[in-house]
Amino acid sequence: MCEIAELNSLKEKILRYNPDCDWALICDAYRFAAEAHAGQKRHSGEDYITHPLAVAEILTEVDADDKTIIAGLLHDVVEDTECSGEEIEARFGRDVAVLTEGVTKLGKVKGRTKSEQKMENIRKMILAMATDIRVIIVKLADRLHNMRTLQYHSSEAKRREIAGETLDLYTPLANRLGVFQFKWELEDLALKTLEPQVYRRLLQELASTRKAREAYIDEVIGLLGAKLKESGIEYKEIYGRTKNLYSIYRKMLRQQKDLDEIYDVLAVRVIVDSVSDCYGVLGIVHSLWVPVPGRFKDYIAMPKQNMYQSIHTTIISPNGKPLEVQIRTEEMHHVAEYGIAAHWQYKEGKTNVKPDRKLNWLRQMLDWQNEVKDADEFMASMKYDLVDQLVYVFTPRGDIYELPYGSVPLDFAYRVHTEVGHKAIGARCNGNMVTFDYVLQNGDIIEILTSKNGKPSRDWLKIVKTPQARNKIRAWFRREQREEGVARGRELYEREVRSYGEDMAAYLKSDAIAELAKRFQFANTDNFFQAIGENHLTVTAVINGIKDEIKYEEPVSEPVIRPYAENKGHHGIIVKGADNVKIRFGRCCNPLPGDPVIGFITRGAGITVHRKDCVNVIKGEDPKRMIAVEWEDAYDTNFQAEINIVADDRDRLTADVMTAINDTKTTINTVFARVMKDGTAVINVKMEVKNNSHFDYICKKIRRLKGIHEVKRVIHASDNHRSG
Ligand code: MN
Repeated sequence: MCEIAELNSLKEKILRYNPDCDWALICDAYRFAAEAHAGQKRHSGEDYITHPLAVAEILTEVDADDKTIIAGLLHDVVEDTECSGEEIEARFGRDVAVLTEGVTKLGKVKGRTKSEQKMENIRKMILAMATDIRVIIVKLADRLHNMRTLQYHSSEAKRREIAGETLDLYTPLANRLGVFQFKWELEDLALKTLEPQVYRRLLQELASTRKAREAYIDEVIGLLGAKLKESGIEYKEIYGRTKNLYSIYRKMLRQQKDLDEIYDVLAVRVIVDSVSDCYGVLGIVHSLWVPVPGRFKDYIAMPKQNMYQSIHTTIISPNGKPLEVQIRTEEMHHVAEYGIAAHWQYKEGKTNVKPDRKLNWLRQMLDWQNEVKDADEFMASMKYDLVDQLVYVFTPRGDIYELPYGSVPLDFAYRVHTEVGHKAIGARCNGNMVTFDYVLQNGDIIEILTSKNGKPSRDWLKIVKTPQARNKIRAWFRREQREEGVARGRELYEREVRSYGEDMAAYLKSDAIAELAKRFQFANTDNFFQAIGENHLTVTAVINGIKDEIKYEEPVSEPVIRPYAENKGHHGIIVKGADNVKIRFGRCCNPLPGDPVIGFITRGAGITVHRKDCVNVIKGEDPKRMIAVEWEDAYDTNFQAEINIVADDRDRLTADVMTAINDTKTTINTVFARVMKDGTAVINVKMEVKNNSHFDYICKKIRRLKGIHEVKRVIHASDNHRSG
């Protein structure tokens, strides 16, 4: 065992609950962190290492295991020093690396707003929390020490921001995890920062009345203790406790009252051996004093989400004022103080750090929070989801569901099952029909009536309270909209293709459509139809792209070249040994003047010109149908060329591309742009160019634009050509 003077206090605290700890490894972690942070200072002027050390000491308050203590010592190493996660893993193992990684903020990402970065960090934290719940315990201890030393921050605005964030996020999380020790202190420290005068006044007033309060509580405890003994109920402990300042303050605000008018500043707590004793004590309490109606809560039968169990009742005490009495077993008390941390098991191989079934809310939060894109909406939902006020309702079969306060039958329906929500047509509460905006009450028995044909209505979005239900309804409408778009697109496409008769019948086949979708850069046929259905792509553009291919003529068996009077010259091609030939250009390869080309004699006795490397030519079986052709030196036609551009999506991308092309005095026929899932944009342009050097020049100009990945000439090689 090593001895480091700075670690004496930590060592003593750990040994109290974990005599088998790996002290050598903890010392090693301390030395590692001290070295990494060497030279860094806190706002207080102290060496930085005092902070991780304090965090580790705070962690002993919840009986943290070795790995959590070590993670506490190392928690700022990756974020603030040169040290990497790999180093930590190599030296302290995978678990510690995962924990430190979990509490490390994401690096700043350019182009993100501050609130977006915050959202991403919270997302990351919740995700890390779902893998190992100890992440959040370290994070809470970190926040607690930062709050304890907040006065050293020189900027008032920054202090208030940190305190606000503590109340928005960290205390609700501590509450949800049931770590009340952390929660109370965090709340009081936040109050001290945000309302310094209120804080000081409350502190003074409570101090000045302490004597009277203690005398009063002693009287109650004496009475109750004697009566319990008389009845033969053994208790472990009875004591009074003052609520934390923040919750007193909240109560004063809520009830618009002064401190001396707030009756439950105090509570009496009775700790007993068994659950049946809890109810025994309750009976005695109610026989001694009159209970206040509606203030009895049985969290033993109905534990809170954070696993809190206890009986609460409020009675009219000897001095005529209400007093809260809390009754629980020792085990329940441990959970009440330490929450999730009370569930750790330290024995080797038994560590249970994955959130268990009881932490359903964590899973629910993970379910929907990935879908929320807007940073403000995310923070709002996040706060909402962490709010602790809950109602408990039952299914007719007696299954219990907990929902946020203010929830309506539809929230319940969506909680039971997404389909129950979608198909809901009515709700019955305790046997009576209620409307969908009925606000659920504790203990309601709710039955949802469904119909096969039921479907969500847009009004529901205004009625439901939970983000989960809202997201599921939105998702349903998105899906329905998509299906409608696909159906409309398919109809438009088929109608148009049919109007061309036999010639285009092949394009009604699903293979051909799939091929077409691919050519227009869609992942599948449905996306292709949806684009048409939602007017992002016109059927005319599609037809123009394929029309010529379809009328492609079949080759003749014996090559004959016949003069073609109507179409003299002007097409830019000279056929050796034959003038006045009907010339057309292969739609498959769109040859441009300057490209090496070859002619191909068709059944109609014309010549189709292909690029020499066109697959349709290469595949051709009959060399007899090939004929040499050349480009004319002068011609007055323009040639159709197609270009595909892949680029990072950004504002004005398409406009910049258009401008670049326009600058070269080029006619643009069609433009088709879309953004891919990976954030790149694909732009397809059909235009008229003079020759291949003109085309190359355009490509060069586009390549010079910002964010361009690829500029490529499109050469189609469709199997629909019947040229062999
Ligand atoms: Mn820290």
